[in-house]
Amino acid sequence: MLNIDLHCHSNVSDGVLPPADVVARAAANGVHVLALTDHDDVAGIAAAQAAADAAGLTLIPGVEISVSWGGQTVHIVGLRIDPQHSVLAAGLADIRRGRIERAHRMSDDLARSGIAGAYEGAYDFAVNKEMVGRTHFARWLVAGGHAPDMRTAFKRFLTRGHPGYVEHEWTSLENAVGWIRASGGMAVVAHPGRYAFNARELHLLLDAFRALGGEGIEVITGSHHPSEYGKFADLARAFGLKASRGADFHAPGEGIDIGRLPALPHYCQPVWQGWPELAAHLSPSLA
Ligand code: AMP
Ligand code: MN
Ligand code: MN
Ligand code: MN
Repeated sequence: MLNIDLHCHSNVSDGVLPPADVVARAAANGVHVLALTDHDDVAGIAAAQAAADAAGLTLIPGVEISVSWGGQTVHIVGLRIDPQHSVLAAGLADIRRGRIERAHRMSDDLARSGIAGAYEGAYDFAVNKEMVGRTHFARWLVAGGHAPDMRTAFKRFLTRGHPGYVEHEWTSLENAVGWIRASGGMAVVAHPGRYAFNARELHLLLDAFRALGGEGIEVITGSHHPSEYGKFADLARAFGLKASRGADFHAPGEGIDIGRLPALPHYCQPVWQGWPELAAHLSPSLA
């Protein structure tokens, strides 16, 4: 069976490994098909592609776009996108500019709680100076002894009701799905179990997403507890969405490793059904 992992991060966004090292780690873990899905940037895809060619692994160009919907932040993964597409590139550049402005406000908020220098500190942890996020702030807070680990950093800081959290208007669901589709890609709702929506709100999101041409939803992700897999597999089926699988890997020792997830439930229709990229991995007798 093919090991397909369609969600991970490099240090182009908030992961810690360079794109080529993410690909090498995936290959070492037995992954056949990998999507690099950095937050709001596609700058790692060329290096990842070169590494994938060398390792004999299939790379799917991807991205994870930050969206505001229903008063929450929602992440939309784009798979099989064209990273060169001008509409997508311009949209992502716009989001990254917003991130820099947000980082100043986050830093100001931390300063009001007596923690100074967070903006500069977080930027030191960001390899890609255009893509700074809460993870970089969290790594800086941990390094400075303000929290013992990343989990606690996000419990004490950077989340609603805590120092360092600021509201931010990301792009619209319509834009994110539109840019992904314009570049030839498939839009997938990332980690639906992570949002603070009730069932009705989640259904409204999936209806809106479908109406815009969204096609998939993550069922097996490092963000879901195994007890949730069935619920989201059922939801995928009920809403006519294809199912995706991805660890959401960020760093060794943090969460689930690349490719180390259970398979999709057998009754799911996978997002990769019919992808020509998979043919290279199927034996001639199966092709
Ligand atoms: P941002 O897009 O800058 O708001 O940052 C969101 C990122 O923060 C997510 O993609 C995760 O990598 C990370 N994150 C959010 N919540 C947590 C948490 N509770 N523990 C660890 N990482 C988190
Ligand atoms: Mn992240
Ligand atoms: Mn996400
Ligand atoms: Mn992610």
